[in-house]
Amino acid sequence: MDTYLEPGRETAREFFRRSIRHGRLAHAYILIGPEGSRKIDFALELAKTLMCESGCKPGAVSCAVCRQVESGNHPDVRIIAPASAGGRVVIDDTREMRRLAYLARFQGPCKVFIVSQADRMTEAAQNQVLKVLEEPPENTVILLLAASLAGLVETVISRCAVVRLGRLSRESVQSELARQDEFPAEQVAWAARLSRGSISRAERLLRADAAEFNNLVAGAIISDAPDADMALADLLKGFSSAGRDNRQRRVLTIEAFDLLATLLRDALIIQLDIASENLYNVVVSDEKRDAAARSDNIGRLSLLFAPDDILDLLPAIADMQRRVDQNLNIELLCDCLSQRVFEHKMKAAP
Ligand SMILES: [Zn+2]
Repeated sequence: MDTYLEPGRETAREFFRRSIRHGRLAHAYILIGPEGSRKIDFALELAKTLMCESGCKPGAVSCAVCRQVESGNHPDVRIIAPASAGGRVVIDDTREMRRLAYLARFQGPCKVFIVSQADRMTEAAQNQVLKVLEEPPENTVILLLAASLAGLVETVISRCAVVRLGRLSRESVQSELARQDEFPAEQVAWAARLSRGSISRAERLLRADAAEFNNLVAGAIISDAPDADMALADLLKGFSSAGRDNRQRRVLTIEAFDLLATLLRDALIIQLDIASENLYNVVVSDEKRDAAARSDNIGRLSLLFAPDDILDLLPAIADMQRRVDQNLNIELLCDCLSQRVFEHKMKAAP
């Protein structure tokens, strides 16, 4: 199992603890972490530390002030987020933030503004933030949450301290998903392994029934049927059919290719005799039967490819994912990938 340690997050916590202790908090920070890694939780935790006057400890029973921050009801802690899923923070949002920034605070020792998905702010919205950064109001901390610096204008970046939060651990993703109580436990464990520290990615996989998809993909690859390559191609194409538009279909196709790659990586792990806890597709849970069936499929997969073949296929898959992203024909790429997989399978066959 992974450790519970999240080095990036722990370092960032310690950094802020020290800055607060020495009274050296900056006016503005950009908190960087992958999509779906609950940067907002980190920001709220920091806001609580700043607002709380009872010395509440994380995870312990919190005071009325901390509860206010947690529930988003503290008048001095404002969260600015896109109005809708997939939307962006626009100029009206940050103009309001600029207005509030220079008003007196209500009850807390300072004011905190948290801008969610700051790297997806429109440029006009960023210009309003920039105005605030150029004339920082007293006792105010601005936290810009971003997946990367790419979408932020240089003038904003240069006025902020950049703090990298890193990924969530597999355990954090798993316990968050378990808390939501929406998906079966054995699938949650599996999705957490494939999540790369992103709760949203894990949710996307669960909603798309990706565990079952991977079972079917493994089954198609080990199948001896003469049209097994076509069956694999159809599975790959089918995974993206839930996508609402071209963009979504491409995202799901890239995900489908990625899932296939996890199966091959697992086969390689078995061949090289690396510790089995590194396997992606073996479910760690009480559902022993399910776990056994799945690892059996992967065991059979590992006999069908030579390690060199897998090492050849993995970069080829990455290359095809880039092509999907570049708007090339999805059906053609699925056919092509399936063909490559079966070519290598035939090579290794005795
Ligand atoms: Zn408190």
